[in-house]
Parts: sequence; C-alpha cells; structure tokens
Amino acid sequence: MQTNAPAINDISFIIRHIIGYENLNALEGYTDVTSDMVDVMLAESGKISSEVLAPLNKIGDNLGCTFENGVVRTPPGFKEAYEQVNSGGWFSLNSDTDYGGQGLPLTLSTAVQEIFDSSNMAFGLIPLLSNSAVELLSAHASNSQKDIYLPNIISGKWATTMNLTEPHAGSDVGALRTKAVKDGNHYKITGEKIYITGGEHDYTENIIHLVLARTPGAPQGNKGISLFIVPKFLINEDSTIGQKNDLRCVSIEQKLGIHASPTCVMAYGDNGGAIGYLVGKENEGLACMFTMMNMARICVGVQGVGIAQGAYNQARDYANNRVQGTRPDAKGKKRPAMIIEHPDVKRMLMDMKSKTESIRALALYTSYCFDVSKRHPISEKRIQFSERVSLLTPIVKAWATDKAIKIADIGIQIHGGMGYIEESGASQYWRDARITPIYEGTNGIQAIDLVNRKIVRDNGKSLFLLIEEIEENLYNFSNLENNKFSDLGKLVRESVNTLSRSTVFLLNQAGIDLDLVESAARVFLDILGSTVCAWLMLLQAGSCEKLLIAKNLDPLFLESKIKTVKHFLKWQLPEVLALEKILLEGQNDLSLVSKKDFDV
Ligand SMILES: Cc1cc2nc3c(=O)[nH]c(=O)nc-3n(C[C@H](O)[C@H](O)[C@H](O)COP(=O)(O)OP(=O)(O)OC[C@H]3O[C@@H](n4cnc5c(N)ncnc54)[C@H](O)[C@@H]3O)c2cc1C
Repeated sequence: MQTNAPAINDISFIIRHIIGYENLNALEGYTDVTSDMVDVMLAESGKISSEVLAPLNKIGDNLGCTFENGVVRTPPGFKEAYEQVNSGGWFSLNSDTDYGGQGLPLTLSTAVQEIFDSSNMAFGLIPLLSNSAVELLSAHASNSQKDIYLPNIISGKWATTMNLTEPHAGSDVGALRTKAVKDGNHYKITGEKIYITGGEHDYTENIIHLVLARTPGAPQGNKGISLFIVPKFLINEDSTIGQKNDLRCVSIEQKLGIHASPTCVMAYGDNGGAIGYLVGKENEGLACMFTMMNMARICVGVQGVGIAQGAYNQARDYANNRVQGTRPDAKGKKRPAMIIEHPDVKRMLMDMKSKTESIRALALYTSYCFDVSKRHPISEKRIQFSERVSLLTPIVKAWATDKAIKIADIGIQIHGGMGYIEESGASQYWRDARITPIYEGTNGIQAIDLVNRKIVRDNGKSLFLLIEEIEENLYNFSNLENNKFSDLGKLVRESVNTLSRSTVFLLNQAGIDLDLVESAARVFLDILGSTVCAWLMLLQAGSCEKLLIAKNLDPLFLESKIKTVKHFLKWQLPEVLALEKILLEGQNDLSLVSKKDFDV
C-alpha cells in the first residue's frame, strides 16, 4: 500500500515567509486568514491525503474506470472518497460564500490541491474542473444561471466538464464543428466531443457540461464559437432534477496514466439535439471558456507539483532502505551502504527536491497574484496583478509540468530495476504526470501564448515590471549586512540579465520574423521559468538566514532549505546561459529546415 507524506512544512514556510500573512490579510475578505487556521488546514488535508487518497492510488491505476451500457464507474473506493472529501468542504475552499463556498484565497486552495494530488492525481481531476467552471460561471453566467448552477457545483452535488476537443479540433479549437441551433429559450446541440474528462461518472447526481459550439452562420474560426451549459439531467422549474438530456458517453479511453479519471467520447443530440443554454453572448464563447481554461492551467501546473512531491517522497524512502555497494565508515573501512549515501544518488535526490520546491513556490506565488488581482483594495494593483497572472499562467502550466515529468523520471532511475517494475509504484507518477504537458493546451502552445499574447502584445510591459521587482529585491538582498549569499545573488542577477536580453531580442524579432519567434518561444519560456523560480528560491534562502539568526523555526529545516536553494541555483541557472545561446543562434538554422529534411 502506498502512503504519502505531503510537504506541509515547505508549503507552510512559503505561505508564511514568502507570501506573508500580512499580505494576504491586506486583501479584501481575507483579514481572518491566520497561520493557526492555515496550519490546521494543511495538517487535516495532509491526513486525508495520506489516509484516504494514497491507499486508493494504486487501486485506481490497476483497476481503472469501467464502461458498460453507457454507465461509467470509477474504481472501487473513489466514489466514497469523493463523498468523504467533499463533505469536508475541501473542493470549495476558494469559491464565493454567496453560493456556499468558503471564500478563502486561491493560495490556500492551491496548497490543498497539491497535498491531495501528491498522493492521487487522478482523483483530483473532477473537482479541479468544477473549481475552474465556478470561475467561468461566476464571471460570465446570467444571475439566474448562477442561482441554479453555482450552489450545486460548489457544494459538489453536481460536477462539470469542459467540452472543447473534437477529432479534427484539438489545439486549433476554432476548427470545431459541434452545432447549436436556437429553439425558443434554449439551443439544440449536436456533435461529438472527444477526450472529455469526467464526461460520465458515478461521483455526482448530475453533470453540467460546458460545451463550445457554433450557431448557424457564425463566423469561421475562433470568432464564431459560443458557449453552452448542457446538463446531463435537465433541471425542473422547482430546481429538482428532471429528464435525461439528449447526450451520452460513447466510450472511455484506455490510456497511459490517470486510469482512475474517465476520459470520455461524448455524443450530443443523437435524438434531435441536446438542450443547451447560452452563456454570455453568441460568438463570444471562447473568451468565456478562457476564464475556465486559465484557472485550469494553473491547477494543471499544481498537479505537476503534487506529482513531483509524491515521486520524490517515494524515491527518498526507497533510497533510505535499499542497501547496495559500500561506503567507508569513520575509520575508512568499507561497510554496506544505503543507496542514499552514494554521491550520484544524492545528486539525483537533490535535483528532485530542489526542482519540486521551486515549482511549488512558483505555483503558490502565482495563486497569490491571482488573489491580489481579485481582492486588492486598489484597482491599479488589481490590474497589474491580473496582468502578472496572465504572464505567469503559461509558465506554471508548462514549466512546472515539464519539470514534474523529469522529476518522476529521476524517481524511476533512483529505484534502479524496481523503477521499471509496476509493483514499486515509481512509474505511475511518470505515467500520470505525462498528460500534464498535453492537456489544457500543450506546452508548445503555452510557450507561443506566452510570447505572442503576454510579451509581444504589451511590448514586454508586464514582464519588465516583474523584472524590475526582481532587480529591486536583488539590490536589497546584496545590501544585507554580512550577506552570505552574494554569490547566489550574482547567479540570479546574471539570469535576470539574460532574461532581459532575451526579451529584447524576441521583441525585436516580432516585427521581422514570426516563425523565428514561435520556434524560439519554448526556449524563452524555459529562460523565464528558471529565472522566476530562481528569484523565489533566493528569497527563501534570505528568509531562512534571518530565521536562523532569530533562532526561529526548526534549524534543520532552515539549513536544509538553504542547501536546496544553493543546489537549485547552481545546477539550474547555468542552463539559462546556454538557452540564451540557443535563442540567439539556434533559430536561424531551424528556419532553413524544410519538411523534406525529415524524409531523408
Ligand atoms: C487524458 C486527456 C484528458 C483530456 N481532457 C480534456 C477535456 O476535459 N476537455 C477537452 O476539451 N479536451 C480534453 N483533452 C484534450 C486535450 O486538451 C488535447 O489533446 C490537447 O489540447 C492537444 O490537442 P490534440 O490532441 O488534438 O493535439 P494536436 O492539436 O494535434 O497537437 C499535436 C502536436 O502539434 C502541436 N501543435 C498543434 N498546433 C500547433 C500550432 N499552431 N503551433 C505549434 N504547435 C502546434 C502540439 O503542441 C502537439 O505537440 C484531454 C486529452 C487527454 C489525453
């Protein structure tokens, strides 16, 4: 049986010392968020993660979901776990209190999501989508739609889905063909959607599908897409559950990982058209859906953090128990060694640990920026942070999930042959993580979104604001008395300078060669991801040093954190310099490569 120990100490440290309760409390509605409350919340969610979700992780992987006569069943124990976790209100932490949510910051919801995902990522997918749908409906639904759907989704009584993908419309959502024809006060929806997470399952009494479709005569492409609420069961006037809508799950996919999450092919309108209700205006559906996707993209990044932590826990425990080879004892005599004592295994574990802690900081910081963008009393701050969330969202999504796969991969390596044997559980982390760079927009699409929409469109304004803030921190940092970390500060400064130069290069190229900009996008995202994470890690080392002097907090944790920060900066940041070289020199050659070159 798998057990799991979530990284509660590290999460608590980042919330307290990098984000700061005083900063959370300055946001409207969050004055009551205290460290005592959060520590209890983290401990309780940690217990659920270890005692309820971890024991189900392998069961879910081995047995998967089943599909019979149109009915999807999740693996044994999952439905009961959903009911148990939901009854504790854990899926509605950041939802609006007006509709029954708990009105807490996204920062805390992110912390809890990581804790749950670290032991069972597949379990968390349906709640993840509901949480993202709440964002969408809160922002774009009519008041009467909000009154009908939000309380039931927030209470977890109903689940939601996100229906974009069709066989010929994946990354290019604008190619979708599902039709919506007006019929009185609703629309009739016909079409097929594929890969729909939670399209059918046994967790909830109703499933509210959020479906993108095209009305007759709508413009081609993204500008002709509308968004519809299409409930599995229609809702009666008295709010009770009514008749089954004209939609069905055709099949579920067999896949590499997340076996406990049903991925469904959905058919709408076999018998004349599924009833759907327009959200917002006709042809403005994609913009509405982006509200859901942006939230889901942050949450997918958080899945990466959870998986990384789970894989690290397992590799560390294995390395602490596996005896292989020898090390010299105090007198220089050879004695049998745990593999954790071998320098190369230490290196691998430190790589896993430091990268995991860096993406955790990135995810929590981005969530905090989201909270500021919603709740800061000053509107300019809200706007500035909303732009920062837009900038950081593709980085959390792509950088954190790519790192998660690498971390899970190292986890397998640390297990040696056992890593390749399913019984160990090490490979499940890798298989589960492998979807995260694909769904919610592939990581390649994230990089293009970052460069085109978040950098070029505002001429780098919001990125340069972030760079300014990092530079200010570095300046203050280097002026600290007896600064032990000036060498680390220099490394981060070098990385920031590289980022600035790379940004200017991309902005210059944007007016000249769009292909070059797109092929460079992924390299640029990695430079930015490394630099922002390096900044957040350096801030942690600074806090540790102050806390050590003040003799506050467990010195073992603080000293270990400093070592982890050093490892991250010294092993990760040299990559940034190499990436700049690729950015400046590698792209021209790529533009000369043609389709034919792949056939020879
Ligand atoms: C397990 C699972 C769950 C999913 N859940 C959902 C869900 O709940 N709802 C939903 O709607 N969808 C869902 N999806 C679909 C998922 O979002 C898509 O698979 C993903 O967006 C990629 O689309 P595609 O598979 O058609 O790949 P394609 O779009 O065919 O992409 C193939 C490759 O080409 C690249 N590419 C494509 N276009 C471009 C471009 N313009 N520029 C550069 N590179 C490009 C991509 O980055 C990728 O590497 C799920 C998929 C899976 C496997």
